[in-house]
Amino acid sequence: MKHPLTMIGYWQSVYETDYPDPAWFTDANWDPNIRQRVIQHLQQGRRMPYTYMGQAFCRFHCDGPRAGRLGSMEFTDGRYVWPEGLVHYLEAHHLRLPADVVDHMLQGTEDCYEPLPHSYEIDYEWWKTQKGWNREASTYKGVDIGYVVITVTNQTYRALQEAALLHFLSKSGGIRGKLKAVETIMKGETVAIMGRFPYVQDFIAENTRIGLEIRFREIPYMQYQELETLGGDERSAWMQQQLERQA
Ligand SMILES: [Zn+2]
Repeated sequence: MKHPLTMIGYWQSVYETDYPDPAWFTDANWDPNIRQRVIQHLQQGRRMPYTYMGQAFCRFHCDGPRAGRLGSMEFTDGRYVWPEGLVHYLEAHHLRLPADVVDHMLQGTEDCYEPLPHSYEIDYEWWKTQKGWNREASTYKGVDIGYVVITVTNQTYRALQEAALLHFLSKSGGIRGKLKAVETIMKGETVAIMGRFPYVQDFIAENTRIGLEIRFREIPYMQYQELETLGGDERSAWMQQQLERQA
């Protein structure tokens, strides 16, 4: 029988909307001694026998030295599995883990569990049911108004790129010709898209590693409103002008 492990510490992203937001788990009043013991436990986990491509980034967009490089490994204590970056959230953002997890971690590491390849089975579902205690809080920073300039830089992850672009644009507002834009980007052309976007920095952080180069330029709201009233051709001409100015 395979050893059962439970995943914790995955956060929602444009691909994985079922996971919780770390802001739901913050608790500035958590006993610092307990927090320290949990941090130690996380630091003593055994490494899982795989590495993810790219680096996780901090969902709180902090400027800490490791904020954009939270690691690509995962660790286990024989019961839970967590990404390398989880400890950063406890250290820097007052994250408290659910009581079941904390209780287990305070009991110490399960002796000698060694996660050999194919010897374990990971449950990803339990963590999705965890909603924390601050459902009003969010790491989502609102809407960015301006234009994104997108280029495909790597042909390896085409399916992921297309899915990410469609998802991002479907959550964005004020965009004309979404499907056409995605099609053109996937053909290898650089495309500029103007609109109201859900926090662009997340989109950039999540997709650089799958080979999308994304730049964002903010447009002051007044100017954006004026541009909104223009016809398609005039708008395209304005965008073209901006791109040439940058080139
Ligand atoms: Zn951070």
